[in-house]
Amino acid sequence: MPILTIKNWLDPVLRKKGTPVENIDEALVKLTEDMYETTLDAKGAGLAANQIGLAYNLVVVDMGIEKGKHDLVTLINPVITALDGEELSEEGCLSIPEVYATIKRALHVEIKATDLDGNDVRYEAEGFMARAFQHEMDHLKGALFWDNLGRARRDLLKRKFKKKQKEKMT
Ligand SMILES: [Zn+2]
Repeated sequence: MPILTIKNWLDPVLRKKGTPVENIDEALVKLTEDMYETTLDAKGAGLAANQIGLAYNLVVVDMGIEKGKHDLVTLINPVITALDGEELSEEGCLSIPEVYATIKRALHVEIKATDLDGNDVRYEAEGFMARAFQHEMDHLKGALFWDNLGRARRDLLKRKFKKKQKEKMT
């Protein structure tokens, strides 16, 4: 199974809203398998389809990452049904590698989605996993974790990103 290339935030696809997935077919199953591999390879908590260049309403999340036991799930056309509480914590993004910021998120989240068998599924999560879900849901809106920070903080993170990219080239 090939590991897909993760687009970085400079790619306009990261600003595209996900279009609803209408058919669950072989190609979609194959795509999610590749997304699982890519998430594991990148040591990420999740991946949205637009991060690999396909702006669909589709994310994969590793529900087991906190326990060190991988448990990847596919969420097709996910919707947040409840958000509760508040937590400040450090957050990163596979499309903004090696750059982290403290971001305010809901502490508790409930999500409904469709799975690969076409069944309705619901997930509840708290803390780190709730953060991961909210982060991936943002990607489906074409949003990035630094969008709600002030301009100055975001510019600082952009400079950090550029510096890290430069280091990688040399
Ligand atoms: Zn991300």
